Amino acid sequence: MDVKLFGVVGGGTMGNGIAHAAAASGFQVLLCEVDQALCDKALRTIDKNLQRGVDKGKMSPGQKAEVLGRIRTSTRLEDMAGADIAVEAVVENFEVKKGVFQKLDAVLAPAALLASNTSSISITKLAACTKRPGKVIGMHFMNPVPVMQLVEVIRGIATDDEVLQEVMSLAKAMGKTPVEVNDYPGFVSNRVLMPMINEAIYCLMEGVGTPEAIDTVMKLGMNHPMGPLTLADLIGLDTCLFILNVLHEGLGDPKYRPCPLLVKMVDAGFLGRKTGRGFYKY
Ligand code: NAD
Repeated sequence: MDVKLFGVVGGGTMGNGIAHAAAASGFQVLLCEVDQALCDKALRTIDKNLQRGVDKGKMSPGQKAEVLGRIRTSTRLEDMAGADIAVEAVVENFEVKKGVFQKLDAVLAPAALLASNTSSISITKLAACTKRPGKVIGMHFMNPVPVMQLVEVIRGIATDDEVLQEVMSLAKAMGKTPVEVNDYPGFVSNRVLMPMINEAIYCLMEGVGTPEAIDTVMKLGMNHPMGPLTLADLIGLDTCLFILNVLHEGLGDPKYRPCPLLVKMVDAGFLGRKTGRGFYKY
């Protein structure tokens, strides 16, 4: 696939990272946000993150300017009309994503691909909202996108074989390592990660260990770069609960039931780093 224009919808944590990574790989990028202030904020974040590369001597100021020069922004989804692929990275809410997918489906050229960066929403269900289910796919980047190697490429039930191959190649062209998985709740990443985090929270609730003890066992014993409770605080405890509920409801197995302590923390508004308090205080 010849990607002349790489569309990104949503310029938050993930969207600005995807736009950054695509532009750094030489693609012309159009980033869509809901208003101009959010477009500007996304560009400022990308600028700041690129500057880190300059400060570390990984790129020259000229290269940074070239990458930034390849990113345009818009507040109108209609401007995505010329994109060869649009990667949706808006909030994790099915109704919002459905609205975005339907608008994109109406404006994109018939051959264009529609990808979602969703962590847990069914690609098959999103595809069914469009008139091009064969061209809908999951492109699950990891946070922070410019740094993390993996892209989980999720094949919906209707995704065409050639679309899968095109997206695998595109991820490689972005310097990433794509891994193909099928569309089931949580895909592979969250299906494996979230039960581990949930079990760590059960360990805490049952007094098996302190947060520090649980995290240290997993860090030093299993060589994980950070412990599961630290990671949960980073992801956001509300997000962890949301994904566990997707696994529990989607797979119907009680082994995915969210730990009552996690539910209690979310009820209390202790959501992790973003609220200054989770399993640790920040
Ligand atoms: P975020 O809240 O930081 O950003 C979402 C952005 O989408 C916001 O800036 C919002 O203004 C914008 N938006 C909402 N509706 C829009 C619309 N109609 N048109 C254009 N922009 C719109 O969220 P995020 O953390 O970047 O997550 C985005 C997606 O990526 C979610 O589906 C999430 O599950 C997934 N994801 C997140 C992470 C993570 O660590 N944060 C990791 C992997 C996948």
